Amino acid sequence: MWLKKKDKVLVLAGRDKGKRGEILDRASDEMFIVAKTNLVKRHQKPKQNEKGGIIEKEMPMHQSKLMLVCGKCDSATSPKIQFLKDGEKVRVCRNCGEMIE
Ligand SMILES: [Zn+2]
Repeated sequence: MWLKKKDKVLVLAGRDKGKRGEILDRASDEMFIVAKTNLVKRHQKPKQNEKGGIIEKEMPMHQSKLMLVCGKCDSATSPKIQFLKDGEKVRVCRNCGEMIE
């Protein structure tokens, strides 16, 4: 599995199954925070400049529940890993064959 920040992903399991979002951050080796998915509601006390109330916050999701979405053909794919001439690893979409940045 090969995910990183700013990737578009499809959620494969859980409450948000079928939703798409962008990876905001990596929480740990195998856990990722995806925008607007796996939300929990938190009560926040008012601060000096902010109103209190209920805020929604993304909780990390395990990588096995996520699938990369290709920016070119817009389909979810488990990418092939290829090596460039200089040894750099790149991800290639199995559907359209394009490199996924
Ligand atoms: Zn593609």
